[in-house]
Amino acid sequence: MKLIDLSEPVFHGCQGWPEDPPVRVRALATHQRDGWQVEEITFSAHTGTHIDAPRHQWARGKSITQLPLETFTGPAVIADLRSALSNQPLMSGHLRQALLDADLRDKIVLLATRRAGRGRSSPSKAPPFLTPEGARWLAKQGVRAVGIDQCSIGGLCEPFNSRTHEALLRRGVWILEGLRIPAQVFRICTPAVLWALPLALKAMGGAPCRAVLVITP
Ligand SMILES: [Zn+2]
Repeated sequence: MKLIDLSEPVFHGCQGWPEDPPVRVRALATHQRDGWQVEEITFSAHTGTHIDAPRHQWARGKSITQLPLETFTGPAVIADLRSALSNQPLMSGHLRQALLDADLRDKIVLLATRRAGRGRSSPSKAPPFLTPEGARWLAKQGVRAVGIDQCSIGGLCEPFNSRTHEALLRRGVWILEGLRIPAQVFRICTPAVLWALPLALKAMGGAPCRAVLVITP
């Protein structure tokens, strides 16, 4: 079995949502001084590759630890939207075109929007984003979850970002943000099995995860 890593590394100074403080890492013990290496890490629960549970946007929605673990593994399909421009609103028409006639029922749909060679190290100021209309269309298709290779699925501007989150989370569709989608992903047959188990951060609205695609020969 082979795994393709879809996760961004988390390190001191890395930035997620622009208004959250950057990740801070401090040594509690060092080999030189203590014979061990132990780090203290301070970060937003929405750092790096992470999951938004319904609770993130809706006080009565399920938290990360209330969602069944089984939901975080399942068949994923890729929507190749790498031709999207900066700040482009992604509508149902774009999704339909990118997903062709794929059956989306219970699928985890991954929106790939970053052009080749465009790294992530600092988040784009005007990323393409999923519109509330596109989000409602995906929910209507019966998708289980939607992921994107940007720090927020609905972009950085209100009211779109809140409405896009609302259109998914209020319908029980969880969100996977901050993905890194390497070029090899576009050469595999989909649906492919995705695993994205979040840290068991009790009652929280979001949690970092390690997202991988399973490649079976
Ligand atoms: Zn988030």
